[in-house]
Amino acid sequence: MIYLHARNARSVAEREEFLGMVREELMVPSSILRDKGVVLNWAEIREMAASGWVSFGGHTMHHPVLSYLNDPGEVQHQVIECSAIMEQQLGQHVRIFAYPIGKAEHINEVAVEAVRSAGYDWAVTTIYGFNTPKSNPLQLRRIEIDMERHWLLLAADVAGLRKPLVPVFSYASNLLSASRRFVHLRPRLSQLKRQSF
Ligand SMILES: [Zn+2]
Repeated sequence: MIYLHARNARSVAEREEFLGMVREELMVPSSILRDKGVVLNWAEIREMAASGWVSFGGHTMHHPVLSYLNDPGEVQHQVIECSAIMEQQLGQHVRIFAYPIGKAEHINEVAVEAVRSAGYDWAVTTIYGFNTPKSNPLQLRRIEIDMERHWLLLAADVAGLRKPLVPVFSYASNLLSASRRFVHLRPRLSQLKRQSF
């Protein structure tokens, strides 16, 4: 209930006022808020970005649901300000944005327009699905990844090759089981040879 009320706020100020009231009601000690800490500091973020293995993208300043905000100016501020700060800190263009929560009902035209004017090249939603060359780069779909699956299967899925490749996969697995049968046969063959000598 607290979560929903905070999520549905019409402005960041309204949400913070509500959360402040809840903290007071629940008598949350201020030490908890002070010790919250930052997950990464800017030096660590810069080091990770310079490694070439990790890239960083925008996700707003205060994580409001953009389509619920009353003021289009606040939507713009949330989207643009975070990329401006990141570009200043990282010294490179921030190319990607992720909409908070990110389902269709959390994204509206004002939000997409703010993302466009902030200069992001792509933006991702949490709407499940694959993208094609016809997809809107500012409303890309995403899929969940199973870490147990082989990366080649994932690559085939993402490239839209899974269906055409099904015969290849079944051929490969038949081949594998055939070679396993051959391995079982080999000791018997060597036994035969020994007997014939
Ligand atoms: Zn988020």
